[in-house]
Amino acid sequence: MDADTITAVATPIGSGGIGIIKISGQKALTIAKSIFRKSPHITADPLASNSSWPSALQSHRLYHGYIVDSEKGRVLDEVLLSVMLAPHTYTKEDVVEINTHSGHVVLASTLDLVLRNGARLAEPGEFTKRAYLNGRIDLTQAEAVIDIINSRTDKALQVAASQIKGDLKRRVESIRGVLLDILTETEAAIDFPEDIEDVINTEAAAAVITDQVMAALKDLLQQHEEARVFRDGLKLAVVGKPNVGKSSLMNRLLQSDRAIVTSIPGTTRDLIEETLNIRGIPVVVADTAGLHETDNPVEIIGIQKTKEYINGADLILFMVAAGEPWSREEFEIYETIHHKNLILVVNKIDLVAEGFEPEIPDSWKHVPRIQISALYSRGLNELKDLIARAAVGDYRLEPGNTIIPNRRHKMALQRSLELASSAVDEIRKQTPFELIAIDLQEAIDALGEIIGLTAREDVLDQIFSRFCIGK
Ligand code: GDP
Repeated sequence: MDADTITAVATPIGSGGIGIIKISGQKALTIAKSIFRKSPHITADPLASNSSWPSALQSHRLYHGYIVDSEKGRVLDEVLLSVMLAPHTYTKEDVVEINTHSGHVVLASTLDLVLRNGARLAEPGEFTKRAYLNGRIDLTQAEAVIDIINSRTDKALQVAASQIKGDLKRRVESIRGVLLDILTETEAAIDFPEDIEDVINTEAAAAVITDQVMAALKDLLQQHEEARVFRDGLKLAVVGKPNVGKSSLMNRLLQSDRAIVTSIPGTTRDLIEETLNIRGIPVVVADTAGLHETDNPVEIIGIQKTKEYINGADLILFMVAAGEPWSREEFEIYETIHHKNLILVVNKIDLVAEGFEPEIPDSWKHVPRIQISALYSRGLNELKDLIARAAVGDYRLEPGNTIIPNRRHKMALQRSLELASSAVDEIRKQTPFELIAIDLQEAIDALGEIIGLTAREDVLDQIFSRFCIGK
């Protein structure tokens, strides 16, 4: 366990009902003792002596009382204080939480008091990092904490919640367990070459690796490919010549489907991005400039940003206006985006007769197409279905398949799969057991990285730097 005691405000700073200050570590109780006056009676003087504390103290109880700055002889707030003794706590250390009223000054003063009494300010994610380092959760569960906080749709939350429960951890552990058993047999074969027949059945071992390990790894990788947009989101760009109705469509979608949380870490700085919730998929759209030719230097920068955004987009809505002839500009735009995942959106169908069919150039006919009226909200549901289909095909996120590995997990799964496959080849080629054992061990280690048995410090730093202070 870490020797020092950490503290932080765990709730967002600002006016509100309750603000929580967390303290974790060996000194948590001592600090609580020096700044908290338990109220035996609501009328007792909080500044008077504190004789009933801490003898009456019990773990996992909530105490009513006052935060007292005895140096200054002041009561800071009336609070509820919870005491949770190790090991059954978030960090597996002694934890004290102070529920103050939530206001900038009261939280800052209470935090300052805790710091003066021997705690230090926690780094981002440090409470969760301690939970992981002290073995309460594995690395996938630690990652799920931040995924839950950042969930932008209900489905993203479902994926994160399954991970925090340990579903991915258990799946990886069970695959790893199968490999460990085979490694044990392989090592026995190295140690007792004269008894090989008794210690390992190579054919059976190869079959187990193929059927139980490689199949399960492929399954997880497929889940990542098919369903990762539920967790990572889909980057959408709306592209077309001026005045076709791009902003109108964006506004319509934002009115009906804006996701509650709109700030996404790590997104392009210069474009304003918004997140939509389309069929449970967090769809990120940017308010991009047009792609038209211009001499205006400010516009040129905007267009450059737009091009970068389009390059990075997962799906592009190429918008044209119904009934208007194709312009040279539109053919040029198509040339720049034709290699991307596209939907052709024919807008303004309210201006053309019913049953109108646009004349589509032959080379565009393979592009999925939809007719809408952004102005009159026609065809928008069908457009959303098409967007969801382009993102996840027929995949449905259901209670039984919410394990969706993230990019970090994917890399390790791939490595493990390659090594497992190479072990099978070697077994079949009757390569010396020493070499087979090396591949098996590395395949096991790759899985260990996912759950954090063998995670490197830089990987941990990268994961926990995504957290906020106080978590
Ligand atoms: P942008 O330049 O592509 O972003 O186009 P805007 O969204 O600014 O729209 C240009 C003009 O077309 C505005 O006057 C809109 O009201 C109009 N407009 C947009 N969508 C439709 C539509 O579906 N039908 C009709 N009739 N007008 C539309």
